[in-house]
Amino acid sequence: MEAIIINDIETARHHANIAAKAARLWAEGYTYKPFDNAPNLFFVFPPDPEKTGYIVDTAAGYCSCPGFKGAGVCSHLVAMTDEVEFINRVNEMEDAYTAPVDACH
Ligand SMILES: [Zn+2]
Repeated sequence: MEAIIINDIETARHHANIAAKAARLWAEGYTYKPFDNAPNLFFVFPPDPEKTGYIVDTAAGYCSCPGFKGAGVCSHLVAMTDEVEFINRVNEMEDAYTAPVDACH
C-alpha cells in the first residue's frame, strides 16, 4: 500500500480512527477468508451475519466497502494488510526453522 499524504486535521483524525478501528477489527468478531486462487484477495465478514461482507485486495489497496469508496482507505484494508504482513512473517519463520535433529531421539 502506498503512503498517504495528509494535509488537513479532519483527514488526519479520520485516518487515526480508521487505524484504531483496524486494530480492533478481529477482536470485534470480524473474520476473513482468502480467495482460493488469488493470494492477495480476501472476503472480510462483519460479526453480524445479516450484514454483507467486503472484498479486500491487499495488493491493489482496495476494499469494496462504502467507507473505502469515500476515503480511499478503510479499517478492513488496513487490518487485512497488517494480517498479510503477519502471515508473511510467520511463513518466513517457518521456512527458516529447522528442527533440532538430536531433540527427536
Ligand atoms: Zn472496507
